[in-house]
Amino acid sequence: MNHQENRQVDLLVVGAGPAGAAAAIEASRHGLHVVIADPGQSRSPADVIVSEAALRALTALDVARHIPLRPLDAVELRLGAGPTRHLPEATAAVCDRADLDTALRHTLADLGLPLLRGVVETITLEADGLQHATICGTHPPTEIGTVAARHVVVASGPPPTGTGMACTQPYTGAPLANRLLLMLPAPRTIDPAETPTCVWAAPAAHAGTFTLGVARLGPADPGTLLQQAHAALLAAHPELTGARPCGPPRTGVLNSAFSPDHVVDDGRLLAGDAAGLSNPFTGEGISYATQSGVLAAQAVAAHPSDPQAAAAAYRRTLSRTFVGYFETARHASQRYHLAWRILAATAHTDRPLFAKVRRAVLLPEGFSNLTAAERMRLDGGDHLLLAPFLLACDEVAISTVRREWPFIARLLIADDSDPHRRLRPAAPFLGALMAAGAPPDITRATLAAAIELATLGALAFLGPMPDQPQPGRLVDWSITGAVLAGDFLLGQATRLVAASAPEISWSFADWLADLAAHRSHRLQHDTSTPASALFAALLEFPARIGGQLGGAPAEVIDALRIYGEQCGHVFLHAEDALTLRGQRTRLDVDLPAMMNGRISAITDLLGDQPICRRQALEATIAAGTTAAQAAHTTLAKIPHEPAARILHAFLDALANPLTPTRPGDGAERNRGADAGAGPPATCARGTATSSAPATRCPPPERR
Ligand SMILES: Cc1cc2nc3c(=O)[nH]c(=O)nc-3n(C[C@H](O)[C@H](O)[C@H](O)COP(=O)(O)OP(=O)(O)OC[C@H]3O[C@@H](n4cnc5c(N)ncnc54)[C@H](O)[C@@H]3O)c2cc1C
Repeated sequence: MNHQENRQVDLLVVGAGPAGAAAAIEASRHGLHVVIADPGQSRSPADVIVSEAALRALTALDVARHIPLRPLDAVELRLGAGPTRHLPEATAAVCDRADLDTALRHTLADLGLPLLRGVVETITLEADGLQHATICGTHPPTEIGTVAARHVVVASGPPPTGTGMACTQPYTGAPLANRLLLMLPAPRTIDPAETPTCVWAAPAAHAGTFTLGVARLGPADPGTLLQQAHAALLAAHPELTGARPCGPPRTGVLNSAFSPDHVVDDGRLLAGDAAGLSNPFTGEGISYATQSGVLAAQAVAAHPSDPQAAAAAYRRTLSRTFVGYFETARHASQRYHLAWRILAATAHTDRPLFAKVRRAVLLPEGFSNLTAAERMRLDGGDHLLLAPFLLACDEVAISTVRREWPFIARLLIADDSDPHRRLRPAAPFLGALMAAGAPPDITRATLAAAIELATLGALAFLGPMPDQPQPGRLVDWSITGAVLAGDFLLGQATRLVAASAPEISWSFADWLADLAAHRSHRLQHDTSTPASALFAALLEFPARIGGQLGGAPAEVIDALRIYGEQCGHVFLHAEDALTLRGQRTRLDVDLPAMMNGRISAITDLLGDQPICRRQALEATIAAGTTAAQAAHTTLAKIPHEPAARILHAFLDALANPLTPTRPGDGAERNRGADAGAGPPATCARGTATSSAPATRCPPPERR
């Protein structure tokens, strides 16, 4: 626009990158009157990685269909000179950043949203309560208009001095298969203040070409960074030795300084890189930008005439959405030597704890995006009973661990949108608490938090144990990390019980002793206790103690105890069923790791013989269904209907993966293969203690 223009709107968005465009699109969906300003400088072609989380966010905004995306087949991680690890939990695509910008603008235009081609020079809050912005053209630099807006979202990218730097450069001369290579070079041991450097390579649009990228926290020289990236790439992938640059580098600032306290500036909501939302480990930022833009618009839409309330709501939801995530990544990057050692030492450890650490540190979505197998189905009234209690439980648990072990906070908040649907021990605890007809007592949320922390502490020890103690003074970081995290959680849980429910301290201590016995059996490779005993112990306590505290009579408490134990069995069989079908398990481990780590009931069911996957799945479904029926039956003794409904819903969600095979899932494919000509598709060896995964058999499908 060339002529001087003055407008009054509900929302001014500064910047039309992923954060600003997302804010404008979402705000217009809520019927807000929006203006967006951006000088719209064109970018030279440069590929970017679109993570699964980014893709989900862009799809929800109806932008993804306009982007020529190139999906990748696999994501591989390599730490230093260690072996390459496939990350089944990660998927990604590549696109040209200029195409992404075009798609964002296309969607803005489709929605009829006015894009002012100019730079927002000044914004001042005037006495009329509106933010007054001056917008100037860049060629020539003249004022082209003013906008008065009730709300402003600033999505203008990182400040000139960010917290780090990212560079990319196109390469040719060596083919990269259709995969994303992620590399974390080992820290130099002489520099304790060293921050992580993340190197990545992804195939470009033309055959034989790829994009090399590198991100680093702290100041860096782009040329040196790219040289280091090239060296790291060749060290990890010598087959790419002939590769040479074929285009100019692209360099930019990263801002990973996110803190919920700094996302509102003089009443204006900051989103995307402006809010410091880029991953300090990998430089990834498109997904956070898009998500934060949407959240900013939703906060404005919820409080259209009250900017202060919108700001408070935005701060709250942003804090909740990214709880623990940025603290985790920052924590890890500030202790890079320790973090790297643990990541490298556990790169091949399929302990659930470390699968989740990898996800927390390296992947953008943290633990969100739960599968259907992880959700409870509840009626409206039962939501109202559960939700406030579980939210209070989350508050306590998160504030207890957030400072020292931020990634655990991330674990606890797995799905912020629906905390009451998540499978978690606090749900049967509340159901049991209400079993005798008592109303849900929110003061018991602290005890629920203690139970959840102790459960996580016990789960930290699940997984394969090393065959031999490490020689000399070498530290086994896998075990050390598990012990440190587990002890921290059990200690915090005990503290919460002492403060909130001293009357059950003895019972709680007995439970912890029981869990500790399971842990020491595992550390000593004692295979006499089946995995199902641990899971039964984990879920028996919340159900029994809930009944006791809720004043239930002895026969009801006994029924709850049996219910809890059976739930433990159902959970384990369901995990087996998921992994036998090649689907993601709730503990994030695959079949060989489950077998080696004794997180499976298959051996208990079928003995120590090589077995075929179909047979294992059938036996698993039968055993799990029997356990689920036993648990449902025992609930007939629960007199209070809402309590029984919650307990049934929890059990149903646990048992969900045990429903007979659906067409198209992994088991159906295996079944077909087993039944048809040719060798059985996949098998599992029922050897719980074997350190070799499913030998004699092809590996299970990737999730
Ligand atoms: C070299 C490099 C490679 C990267 N690769 C990846 C990758 O592969 N995957 C990934 O997820 N992330 C990547 N990132 C990070 C990612 O680019 C950012 O996190 C993301 O673009 C942030 O989006 P945003 O909308 O917050 O800011 P931006 O994308 O920076 O958009 C800001 C917009 O605001 C406009 N603007 C600025 N000031 C004003 C003003 N005063 N008035 C009006 N408009 C203004 C700008 O013109 C721009 O269009 C990379 C970053 C760099 C530097």
